[in-house]
This record gives sequence, structure tokens and C-alpha cells, in this order.
Amino acid sequence: GKRINGAVNNALSNTEDDYTTTVDSMLKGIVTALLESDVNIALVSKVRSNIKSKLLSENNAANRSVSNGQTKKLIQKTVFDELCNLVDCEVKEPFTPKKKKSNVIMFVGLQGSGKTTSCTKLAVYYQKRGFKVGLVCADTFRAGAFDQLKQNAIKARIPFYGSYTETDPVKVVEEGITKFKKEKFEIIIVDTSGRHRQEEELFQEMIQISNVVKPNQTIMVLDASIGQAAEQQSKAFKDSSDFGAIILTKMDGHAKGGGAISAVAATHTPIIFIGTGEHIHDFEKFSPKSFVSKLLGIGDIESLFEQLQTVSNKEDTQATMENIQKGKFTLLDFKKQMQTMMKMGPISNIAQMIPGMSNMMSQVGEEETSQKMKKMVYVFDSMTKEELESDGRMFIEQPSRMVRVARGSGTSVLEVEMILMQQRMMANMAQNIGGAAAGASGQPGGM
Ligand code: GDP
Ligand code: MG
Repeated sequence: GKRINGAVNNALSNTEDDYTTTVDSMLKGIVTALLESDVNIALVSKVRSNIKSKLLSENNAANRSVSNGQTKKLIQKTVFDELCNLVDCEVKEPFTPKKKKSNVIMFVGLQGSGKTTSCTKLAVYYQKRGFKVGLVCADTFRAGAFDQLKQNAIKARIPFYGSYTETDPVKVVEEGITKFKKEKFEIIIVDTSGRHRQEEELFQEMIQISNVVKPNQTIMVLDASIGQAAEQQSKAFKDSSDFGAIILTKMDGHAKGGGAISAVAATHTPIIFIGTGEHIHDFEKFSPKSFVSKLLGIGDIESLFEQLQTVSNKEDTQATMENIQKGKFTLLDFKKQMQTMMKMGPISNIAQMIPGMSNMMSQVGEEETSQKMKKMVYVFDSMTKEELESDGRMFIEQPSRMVRVARGSGTSVLEVEMILMQQRMMANMAQNIGGAAAGASGQPGGM
């Protein structure tokens, strides 16, 4: 951070050389951040030269005479867009299962990547949307694999098929699919093994299963912490089982998932969901913007406010924007934002940008979500002016406040806590953004 800001402050003249120097030193910080997040070196270098040529092109000549603050903003935006483009791999015909037909989805990926967990999460996702879903365990390699899937399935109330005695995964899959098809299941999800005595055998097995299953969709599961190995691994799976989508797991951990960008770029295959925890509901639709924001250490709060500004009461937004610029985000800011969202009708787009919100959305329908949002407003209404205008810390210092608010709003302490937690996440983001805007922070990557 300091190096970049130093460069910004030093390069105050508008000559071309100084502009180039400023751009160069800002890019250096970004390059470091990307490499630290495990983005592939070749990709980083491509992004870097794209950005540089964009910034230094004749068309952008006008930018050279603007302030360094604006240059910094422009660079941020260019990097952001550039990375979004990389990870937002648009597929002409994304897979959508058809009702009243048997859609077969096969999972592949290395052992431990999160296949069995993600299979169940996807099953729940489709079951919530009215599909008749079944799970088939084709992992006959690892002892206990069937038990794990069975336990997950029972917990989520999803019918399942597997065998304790059969050692040939192809046989199990054949039986399972035949059974579920006969019973008119609409989505049949096949979990596979991720390990073999030899890697070559694993890929052979994937090809054999794939030939029997004839999946309508194959999904590769990738652990976000895979790092630089992502490219080679995803290519190997692409060759043996031509997967059409990626699920990126363990995004709740330390890894920012930079490796996934290489997987997308190397296989031209989109990420469709991310896993954000071990629980069935820790599953979110993939959003390139949120992903890149996390990678660069900036919150998606910026795009949120871009959208909010177009629809909301100008004065309210203005005050919130000013707060964010100062690195603040109070409960009152949260309340206003909530109310604006409720006015907006179809909220899913916006809600996705609030931490924890898209999770809430994926579990329930729109109607239930707006019920939840109403509840949140009741909670806010039960707070005092002092509480609303605070950063929420007083609730932690005096938990009795939570009890009072819960009682007053007809909710539970847990619900109040959840809202406080969301506000805290937003406040953290505001701190990053606000700090950066003031040019005083050391955000990751010096952005
Ligand atoms: P498989 O070998 O590919 O089937 O992987 P599993 O589904 O058995 O998952 C391996 C481990 O990772 C288990 O302990 C899971 O609970 C855990 N896991 C899976 N997905 C996630 C995730 O999104 N976040 C976290 N924190 N853990 C996960
Ligand atoms: Mg497994």
C-alpha cells in the first residue's frame, strides 16, 4: 500500500513519463496481489499488459491530465473488469434441467475436493425448486464413502442409492440410474471416487462411468485452495470427462480461489456455484463480481451502491455514501438500504451483493425472503436512535440490548445477532473502501 501511495503522491506532474511511472508502480502492487492469490503467472502477465495498453492507449490520452486519485480509480476499475472478463466465461447454452425428464448430473474431482458434500448441496438446491432428486454413490474405492453420502442424503431427505458389497462403480451406477429412472426421478446426481491406486486408473474409471451414465451435465469440483495446480488438474479432468461446469468449494477458508481463474481459462468452462462451508446450505450461485472483489480485497459494496443510487432516495444514499467514504457503515445505513431494497421489487440481484444475503436467498423463495426483510426492518424499528447511528458495538458490550430489541420486534436474539453480523461485515468492507478512497489504507495489493 505505502509504495503505491508514495508513487501516487510523487507523480504529481502530468508529463507522459510520470504517468507511465505511476501506472507501472500501481500495476506492480496489483500483480503482487494476484500472484499471492494464486492466479496463474501467465494470466497475470496477460492481464497486466492488457491493462497497461488500455491505460496508455491514445484513446485514453485524456486520462493523463487527470489527478492521480482518478488514475488510481481508473486502474482499479480496469483491473476489476479485466478479471471479471477472465472468470465470467459465458456459455451459449448453460445447462438447465427439464422437468418430467430424467436429467443425469455426474460429479468428478479429486478426493477431498468436496464432491460428496457438493452433490448433496446441489440436490437440495434442485429439490427446493420442485424437482424429484436422487443421489447415486459411485465411489466404491473408499471405505465409508457410501455411508457418508447416505448420512448426507438422510439429513437432507434426498433418496439415495449405493452398495456396500459391489466393487464395480460402473455396475452400481447402472443399477442406481435404472432404478431412479423407473421411478421417474427428474434429477439423478452421480457422486464418483476421486482416488485410485494410480491417477491413470482414475481417469479411466471416469471415462467408463461417463459412458454408462451418459450425463446431461458433468460438474468438476475444485477446492479453492488448489493454487497453481488448478490448470493442470482441470485440463486432465476435461480430457477424461468433458465437464461443462465447475463448483468451487471451501471459499469460506483462507484461500481466495485465484487458482480457479486458471481452471476457467484453461478449460473455457464456467464456475456455477461456490461452497462456503460444510453445511448443506453453505452454497451460493457464483457471481464473477463478488469473486473478483474478494480476490482483490474489495467488497462488492461498490457495485451495490452503484445500483442503489439509481433507485433510491438521493439524500439517503448521499448520507450513506459519505459514511462509506469515511470508512463507516452504521446500522441506520443498513436499515435505509434494506428499505430501498424492499421498494425495488425483484431483489435477488441486489441482495446477492450483500454478504450472507445470497445464502439466505438460495434457501428460500422470494416471498419468504421479503418476509425476512420485513422482519429485519422490525428489528431496526426497535432500536433507539443512538443504537441505529452506532457501529453496533454497543450490542456486543451490552447483550441485554439484543434481548430488548428481539422482544420489541417479535424476533429472536439469534435473528438480531445475524443482522448485527451482516452490518459488521458491511462495515468492514466500508472500512476498506473508505480507507482506499482517502488514500490512507494498506489494502491487500495496495489497491
Ligand atoms: P470428496 O472426497 O470430494 O467427496 O469431498 P467431501 O465432500 O467428502 O469433502 C471433504 C471435506 O471438505 C469434508 O470434511 C467436507 O465437510 C469439507 N467441505 C466440502 N465443501 C466445503 C466447503 O465449501 N467449505 C468447507 N469449509 N468445507 C467443505
Ligand atoms: Mg466423496
